[in-house]
Amino acid sequence: MSKARDLHLMWSAKSDYQELPLFILNKKAVVNVKNNDQRSFGYSILSAKYYQVGERNKRIKRRVLYDKLFNVENLTNLPYPVSIPDMEKYGESLNLNMNILTFSDEAGRVLTPLYISNKKPNQPTIDLLYWRGHFAWIRNRNRLLSHLSKGKRGLHYCVRCFSHFISESKLNSHEVVCLKSKDSASIIPSSSNC
Ligand SMILES: [Zn+2]
Repeated sequence: MSKARDLHLMWSAKSDYQELPLFILNKKAVVNVKNNDQRSFGYSILSAKYYQVGERNKRIKRRVLYDKLFNVENLTNLPYPVSIPDMEKYGESLNLNMNILTFSDEAGRVLTPLYISNKKPNQPTIDLLYWRGHFAWIRNRNRLLSHLSKGKRGLHYCVRCFSHFISESKLNSHEVVCLKSKDSASIIPSSSNC
């Protein structure tokens, strides 16, 4: 085996990076930073928080844009790879509402909620996609889920039950009931092996 191949395998073993399935990639709704370590969770949070900077520089998927920001955003000392059952703790330390979706098929069409945080007012909400140990930022939840309504445009989707609404205000009214249907943040059992 060549040295280059050895190095590639070493790199792969150390990185949780995963390519998006083509079906999701084509939606242009998820920002998937190409990390070379096990900190995809941190890169996902940073790509969401610094979206404007990344887009302006046309480098939104490049990890070098974010490397210096881990310290600034208190992301350096998290125990990477992060654990889904500890998400509530991370959300509290980062002052973020976080929702995590995953998919259970190869194509990425069968999406399910994996973790839904309690939606605290006055702090931002970030949606993440998680598969095979890797995180990416869902930049546009409505576009990601649009195939559930056969591509109808302009709909707003609930992150917990995937019901859709014609306006954000109707979604917000629904969320008051839906997201608070459990007392605490939820780890939702998934049939996937992600
Ligand atoms: Zn709902």
